[in-house]
Amino acid sequence: MGAITSGLVCSHHHLYSSLARGMPAPPKQPTGFQEILDQIWWRLDTALDLEMLRWSAMLGAAEALMCGTTAIVDHHESPNAIEGSLSVIADACAEVGVRVLCAYGVTDRHGSDGARRGLAENERFIRAGGRGMVGVHAAFTCTDDTLHAAAGLAADLGVGVHIHVAEGPGDIPAGARLESLAADDWLLVHCVYLDRSLSGTIAHNPRSNMNNAVGYAAPARRFPANRVVLGTDGIGADMLEEMRLAYVAHRADDVLASPETAWQWLENGYALIPEAQHDRVTWNYDHADSPWHVAFTPGVRALDVVSGTGEVLLRDGRPTRVDIDEVRARASEQAQRLFARL
Ligand SMILES: [Zn+2]
Repeated sequence: MGAITSGLVCSHHHLYSSLARGMPAPPKQPTGFQEILDQIWWRLDTALDLEMLRWSAMLGAAEALMCGTTAIVDHHESPNAIEGSLSVIADACAEVGVRVLCAYGVTDRHGSDGARRGLAENERFIRAGGRGMVGVHAAFTCTDDTLHAAAGLAADLGVGVHIHVAEGPGDIPAGARLESLAADDWLLVHCVYLDRSLSGTIAHNPRSNMNNAVGYAAPARRFPANRVVLGTDGIGADMLEEMRLAYVAHRADDVLASPETAWQWLENGYALIPEAQHDRVTWNYDHADSPWHVAFTPGVRALDVVSGTGEVLLRDGRPTRVDIDEVRARASEQAQRLFARL
C-alpha cells in the first residue's frame, strides 16, 4: 500500500516555459547567466502569445498533477501578450484542477510603458478576484520608480511581491535597493548573491541554480531570519525530485545536512497555498511520507490525487479532467509555432 500525503506545492514556477524544451539552439552559445537570459529566456518570452501560453500552462499544470503537485506559485512574463495573460494561466490550471497563485513579472526591459502594462495586469487580475501577488522580474531590470510602484501596488492590494533577487552576480545591488521595500509577505526567489538580510520568504530552486551555473544559494544559512520554500524555476513541478536535489546540494555544502531540512522547505510551501494540505496524494511507494526514504528513492510516482473537495483529479497516474495525450499534442503544435518565431 502506497503512502498518502497532502498535495505538494511548487513555490516558484514559470508555466510559460513548458514549451521551451527542445527549442532551437540560440544563435550564440551563452557563456554566463546574463547571456542565458539574453539568448534563451528573453527571446522566448517575447515570442509568446496567449494561445501558446494557454497550452504551455495546461501542459505544466497537468504534469504537476502527475507528480502529486496540486499547487503552483507562478511567475509569468510575455511582453508581447501582457493583457489577460494571468487569466489565461489561472483558467488553464483551473481546467486541470491545480491551484495557482499568479504574478506578472514587471520589468523596464521593454521601456516604461511595458512596466506600466505589467503593473496594470497584476492589478486587473487581483482586483477581479484572481489569486495573485504583484510580480517583478528582478531589481536589475527595473528602475527605482518601478520597484516603488510595485511595492506600493502590492501594499494597496494586500498581497506580497514575487521577485527574483540576486540570482546572479549582476543583481548584487538588489539587496540595497530592496532593503527599504521588502516585507514579510514578499517572495524572494534565489538570493544566491544576496548581501544582506531582507524581509520575506526565500524560494530556493536548486536544479535551476545548477543549470545556470550561478552557484549554491545556501538557504539553510538564511534560517531563521527567513522561511525557505522550494521551487523549480520552470523546470517541471516534480517536487519530490526537487526535494532530493535540494537535499544533496545541501549535503554537498555541509556533510551534516539532513534530508529533514529540505523536506521542511517543501512543507513550508503550505504557508503560500494552505489548501494544498487538504488535497490527498496516494503514491506508489509506502514511505513517500518519509524524508529519509524519499531522499534516497528516485522514481516515486503519484498514483491518485483527490482534491480537498473530494474530486478525483488523478487516477492511476493520469489526469481525469483533461486528456494528457491531447494536451501534449496541442502543446506540441504550439511549441512548433513558438520555435518558428525564434
Ligand atoms: Zn524564476
